[in-house]
Amino acid sequence: MKILRATAPYVSRPPLQAARVLAAHGLVAAIPDPEIPWVTIEDLGILRSVELSGGTLKVILTPTYGNCPATAKIVAAVRQVLVDNGYSEARVELALVPAWSTDWISPSGRRKLRAHGIAPPAEGCRTGRGRATRPSAPVGCPHCGSLHTTVLSADGPTPCRMTYRCLECREPFDHMKPL
Ligand SMILES: [Zn+2]
Repeated sequence: MKILRATAPYVSRPPLQAARVLAAHGLVAAIPDPEIPWVTIEDLGILRSVELSGGTLKVILTPTYGNCPATAKIVAAVRQVLVDNGYSEARVELALVPAWSTDWISPSGRRKLRAHGIAPPAEGCRTGRGRATRPSAPVGCPHCGSLHTTVLSADGPTPCRMTYRCLECREPFDHMKPL
């Protein structure tokens, strides 16, 4: 009898909350990265979790490169989408440990990067927290697939990228630095 009484409020609430958490996850996961807008923050592995914590919705994000100016924009976008959809009490937290790695970019994220002319970072190249340096592995051209490529500039359009040129098809392209 005790158990039955204890379960009554339990059964009446969680289904709704679980659905709300799932819906919130879908909304947050679809937020585009401010610098590479054809990939989402979920594709990039920035979105760690959307969960209920003590009855409050909690969104946990891990920012990419430490100096990436996009972090504040992403946090603002997450807050906005939550408020706009009735989750005004939700909390957004940044988890800095473990540090984000380009290894967290999903296969679909890598496909989208390549489709938009950005060579994704090689996998399994986690170098630890710190400045991304010139990768030692050859970077494949996202246009023709050739590994015959050369660095044009270590300073790409954003701190996360550097510019390459393909020596086969002659097209310049951006490469996302491995981290
Ligand atoms: Zn090429």
